[in-house]
Amino acid sequence: MALEDYRGDMEMCCRCSTCKFIPMQKVKGAQYVNVCPSIAKYNFHAYSAGGRLNIAAAMLKDGFKYTDKLLDIVYNCQLCGACGVSCNYAMDMEVLQPISEFRLRCVEDGKTNPALDKVIAGLQKQGTMVPGAKGKRGDWATGLKLKDATKEKVDVLYHVGCLTSYDKNMQKLAKATVKILQKAGVNFGIAGNAETCCGGRAYQMGYKEDFLNQAKKNMDMIKKAGIKTLVTGCADGYQAFKVLYDKYNLKGDLEVLHISEYIDKLIKDGKLKLNKKVNLNVTYHDPCRLGRLGEPWIHWEGKKVPGDRFVFDPPKEYRRGTKGVYEPPRDVLKSIPGVKLTEMTRIKEYAWCCGAGGGVNESNPGFARWTARERIEEAGSTGAEAIVTACPWCEKNFSETIKENGSNLKVYDIVELVEKAI
Ligand code: SF4
Ligand code: SF4
Repeated sequence: MALEDYRGDMEMCCRCSTCKFIPMQKVKGAQYVNVCPSIAKYNFHAYSAGGRLNIAAAMLKDGFKYTDKLLDIVYNCQLCGACGVSCNYAMDMEVLQPISEFRLRCVEDGKTNPALDKVIAGLQKQGTMVPGAKGKRGDWATGLKLKDATKEKVDVLYHVGCLTSYDKNMQKLAKATVKILQKAGVNFGIAGNAETCCGGRAYQMGYKEDFLNQAKKNMDMIKKAGIKTLVTGCADGYQAFKVLYDKYNLKGDLEVLHISEYIDKLIKDGKLKLNKKVNLNVTYHDPCRLGRLGEPWIHWEGKKVPGDRFVFDPPKEYRRGTKGVYEPPRDVLKSIPGVKLTEMTRIKEYAWCCGAGGGVNESNPGFARWTARERIEEAGSTGAEAIVTACPWCEKNFSETIKENGSNLKVYDIVELVEKAI
């Protein structure tokens, strides 16, 4: 698909601004009504999903004339998908896909963001989205004697991900995951230094070729090793393997599970017992790419029926964000003795982004932190002692924001709490 293929969707936009807020039928109060970090921060219609669609449609019609302001609008969007969920509460049209294609088109036309170029140069050189990463990808596992999934037969490949592999503060998540899988007696392995980036964050930044290169490398390794099931604790990785690889027909029949889904299954199958008390009042943050953007891809081929109405033959099914991974992490938290879960206002498909996606963390860290601050405040308003997430990128952004701004709220990944309970 290319931007041109979404011309009709973009022209459908009636400028109603629903994409900026939780739909009226679902709203619970005025305080946490915003869903789009970009319009909430920049407060000018061009920074909303509708604005972006209007601009892209006009450019398709009148030619691509790039300005610094236009690129500021394009890159200051987390591609979090909340806009599409709100719009699609009432409308049948693609919203996030054309916004993403607009970004891909900018990169294709050489209109890149210098900060993102640097990250991609690192990816090309080192196979990771952690710029300036030191050491080797598998160093965190030194001494753990884990199986090498590229050489030994395993039931599950644990894909660790870039941030968890390389960031010294995040390696605890990989170690916690290992302990949990070992405790449950899972025959798993890692790819160690043979693991490479999933490519998902490169895709969000607009670098489609780099994404495809990574996807092909990963799938070659997975096929060669005969791996049938992949488990990851990274929401970006989950969405890449499960949704994006499928979109580009690269996934085959690989089963892709997020660690929260896998732990939930282990608990429900009686293979993992959580019996140590963890006395903690928590609230749960749905990572965008595990929640609404983790919804399976729907392959559709057909054509628009001629006429003014937006009718397709065969009928087109829209991804509305309701089929993301919402219950498994909540069920896991509820299984931990002593943990009390209190929900925030914006949850599941209406969750507010942590701020770290879409390249914003790298191109405009101030905006990433601003977005996290809003979520931390919302989490604090529940009376919870801790915000629990299920993605290292969220945890890092929340933790760094709290360090900069102060808050009593603690930040955990779900695997850290499960590790405490086993
Ligand atoms: S994208 Fe959808 S919700 Fe936003 S202004 Fe356009 S039609 Fe309305
Ligand atoms: S993807 Fe997220 S940040 Fe971008 S326009 Fe949509 S809601 Fe706003």
